[in-house]
Amino acid sequence: MNAATFSEIGKALHEHQRVAVMSHVRPDGDALGSQLALGLSLKKLGKDVRIWNEEGMLEKYSFLPSSDLVSKPPAEPEDVDLAIALDTAIQSRLGTALTAIKSAKTWINIDHHPSNPRYGDLVYIDDTSPATGQIIYELIKDQGLPFDRAMAENLYVAISTDTGSFQYPNTTARTYEIAAELVRAGVDVGRVNQLTYENYPKRRIELLRELLGTLHFECADRVASFSLSMKTAADLGVLPEDNEGLIDHVRAIRGVVVAAFFEELSDGKVRVSMRSKDDRADVCAVATKFGGGGHKLAAGARVRGSLAEVEGKVLAEISHVLDCNS
Ligand code: 5GP
Ligand code: MN
Repeated sequence: MNAATFSEIGKALHEHQRVAVMSHVRPDGDALGSQLALGLSLKKLGKDVRIWNEEGMLEKYSFLPSSDLVSKPPAEPEDVDLAIALDTAIQSRLGTALTAIKSAKTWINIDHHPSNPRYGDLVYIDDTSPATGQIIYELIKDQGLPFDRAMAENLYVAISTDTGSFQYPNTTARTYEIAAELVRAGVDVGRVNQLTYENYPKRRIELLRELLGTLHFECADRVASFSLSMKTAADLGVLPEDNEGLIDHVRAIRGVVVAAFFEELSDGKVRVSMRSKDDRADVCAVATKFGGGGHKLAAGARVRGSLAEVEGKVLAEISHVLDCNS
């Protein structure tokens, strides 16, 4: 529960041998890129490294250098020296990676979510950082850990995806400086951006067409949302990863302050994903009401109930936060 310095974290990385580098369920580019960058650096240090994610490597991020090092956690729990959680706002969001840790001498928690409850022994939370990948870059440089082009490319994708390609307001001057340093380290910007943003499977666009059919507005067009039923997902044969970022089409509408996406899950819950364009419309506060979390401008939750029920409840709360009825 203590705030750790980079040198304390660096010391722990050097002192221990068996390491598990993990991140959250339904991983995004920041989660997987950060895991790979730190994992690769530790491997170069001679550590015995596992890079675990509940989902294993996603098809769409399989272009990341050394992506094959990301594996699903083993069914049989393991003893490790160091368990490292990256980009994971609450420990339970590690999913089966958490249950695969039988014991760990030390837990490290590195994240940029303000709602992170600061679990673990060595905790480094920087909520001014737009991506966990940016913190990993600073850690690697500060501690003189091994660094090469493969790590740079993973960190570039981590930072690019969490900043909406260096566009969201969380992007800072330091973010651009780091991007420049990553390009100097050998990142092929054109190629990597094409693989990240112009390489979608056709089914993702077919999904977008379906989602737009469910789009509706409220609160004088300041709130827009769409939803995905399990039936539509099955009919189109889409993977869970296919909808990452589709909410940006809704956020991009002029006048829309809050965008919401509802996805029916097989466990009787609905995944809620929200984006805000205005600091005064804090979607993390909305998500927290429903047991989730995230950032002011990007947050989510998993809420028990049918699609219609959850949509109704969450949209009512958004309307409340935006003061729509006044
Ligand atoms: P996304 O909408 O892309 O799934 O998530 C946006 C942000 O909200 C991410 O920073 C993510 O960590 C957070 N988030 C999404 N779903 C949940 C959830 O179920 N619980 C918590 N605590 N945070 C979430
Ligand atoms: Mn992140």
